[in-house]
Amino acid sequence: MSADPIHYSIHPSDPAGHLYTVHCTVQRPDPAGQIMFMPAWIPGSYMIRDFARNVVRAWAREGGREITVERADKSSWRCAPATGPLTFGYQVYAYELSVRAAYLDLERGYFNGSSVFVLPRGHELSPCLVDLLPPDDSASNWRVATTLPREDAPELGFGRYRAADYETLIDHPVEMGRFDLAQFDAGGVPHQLVLSGRQRADLERLCRDLARVCEQHLALFQDAAPMQRYTFLTLAVGEGYGGLEHRDSCSLICSRNDLPRPWEPAMSEGYRGFLGLCSHEYFHTWNVKRIKPAAFSPYRLEAESYTTLLWAFEGITSYYDDLALRRCGLVDRVSYLQLLGQTATRVYRGSGRLKQSLADSSFDAWTKFYRQDENSPNAIVSYYAKGALVALALDLELRLRSDGRCSLDQVMRALWQRHGRTGVGVPEDGVERLAAEVSGLDLDEFFQSAVHGVAELPLAERLADFGVCLQRRPAAGPDDKGGTAAVAQPPRAVLGVRSRPAPHGAEILHVLEGSAGHQAGLAAGDVVVAVDGLRISGAELHERVAALPPGVSVSLHAFRRDELKELQVIAQAPPADTIYLELMADPGGAATARRDAWLGGE
Ligand code: ZN
Repeated sequence: MSADPIHYSIHPSDPAGHLYTVHCTVQRPDPAGQIMFMPAWIPGSYMIRDFARNVVRAWAREGGREITVERADKSSWRCAPATGPLTFGYQVYAYELSVRAAYLDLERGYFNGSSVFVLPRGHELSPCLVDLLPPDDSASNWRVATTLPREDAPELGFGRYRAADYETLIDHPVEMGRFDLAQFDAGGVPHQLVLSGRQRADLERLCRDLARVCEQHLALFQDAAPMQRYTFLTLAVGEGYGGLEHRDSCSLICSRNDLPRPWEPAMSEGYRGFLGLCSHEYFHTWNVKRIKPAAFSPYRLEAESYTTLLWAFEGITSYYDDLALRRCGLVDRVSYLQLLGQTATRVYRGSGRLKQSLADSSFDAWTKFYRQDENSPNAIVSYYAKGALVALALDLELRLRSDGRCSLDQVMRALWQRHGRTGVGVPEDGVERLAAEVSGLDLDEFFQSAVHGVAELPLAERLADFGVCLQRRPAAGPDDKGGTAAVAQPPRAVLGVRSRPAPHGAEILHVLEGSAGHQAGLAAGDVVVAVDGLRISGAELHERVAALPPGVSVSLHAFRRDELKELQVIAQAPPADTIYLELMADPGGAATARRDAWLGGE
């Protein structure tokens, strides 16, 4: 193992062609032929992406001499034997507008190290130096935003940066371009908000609100901040939503309309969602970036890394993201319960929750959650959404059975002390054991059912103990996300399918198990062109069926590929699969006290 640094340079050499040119120099390469490896996946996004496929060409030099390079496998190259220094060069095509990969055009560049930097095998622990080079067009006036420490570069400038090792290097994404920048302080830690893309956001308000969210999370763990600085790298686009956590930063994509504008003082649903996203990624600074499953310690980036614990890392994070908004006072109790009701609705809309446990959903994330298809609502459950409900149920269980002495907060603090601060990975049963240890309660039955089983969660009963009533009703229409009492008259009948408008009808995307559509033989991909002998436009499928009395049989005409089919469908009354939560008017003294401790008072 060499202590010589690996030296990288990355140059946006052809912004119009979306190409970075990268060099990686190793002082003492493997004399048998240095292997250069590029990750197959990026931590935080559990899908094989094979980033090496975006390398357009590669070459290698020893001194001034070109040496041969051959492919070793789909993620690796083998350089001819050399004594060094060895420089491996390559061009990377970067045109994926997401938080997981790399992007370059004439306006900006963005990359995760896992998409652009090779790892010279055998040098996993060597320190890294990175020269971030500006585009050749000096008129571009690009700045640089990254949490990589500066070695020899002006603040926000191109130049030399460093990382302790390769895993650190690829955990600090880089934005380059002409972005807006705002700064704020939370818990004594300097925070940056970097905003790229066209937007007119109210930066002052964003900083004010984000500071409250960050303070909330920092306070939860009752310890010094684990990072010295933090950056929200945000790209505003027309339509988009997504985030990826890193140890000192996160990358976000949002719709520009979700960002608050100076002339809009109210808390819009879109802005509430954006704050929830920021809160989610920030909570990961502890939960998954430092408190990690043993399976990720260290990351093995050449193939799938299996763990049954994603429900704890994504589900608990999904519980705390909105709860923090409530706790720091950015949303009121009613607004918070609306968000919880929407999460519950997402879980209860599919029968997959009755077949796949949370532990299995976590384990199979690589091939199921991240590779969803037309049958997913019938086959899988989200470890995010159901994970958040289990975190809620666990929090309430702990509070109730300990008479308010214990809550999920203590479990998180214990996870932080035992696994986050120490870097010791969480074993597969570690969360369950620690929750039992911290609370002194026997939680076997709870976890067996909630995490390893597929029984319905006893949410309604538990919420009632906390003065909250769980209500169910039919969906008012295809866009009804739940969370509130009925906004409109529910349909009289439904097909139980999800569809989207097609040029000459409605294309079926999902057929829910046991639904009228299932029983009639409708299938994903079918294009329904007529209901009851009358032509429909794409948006009319639901409303035409909605007007029918349940139990009536009507004909549907649909194309499957190029074959016209006539199906008989018996319209069904809509299921009560939409959930909303209400504060009970007078839950009694004990429940009121529990509710106030959980959600805060009025
Ligand atoms: Zn997450």
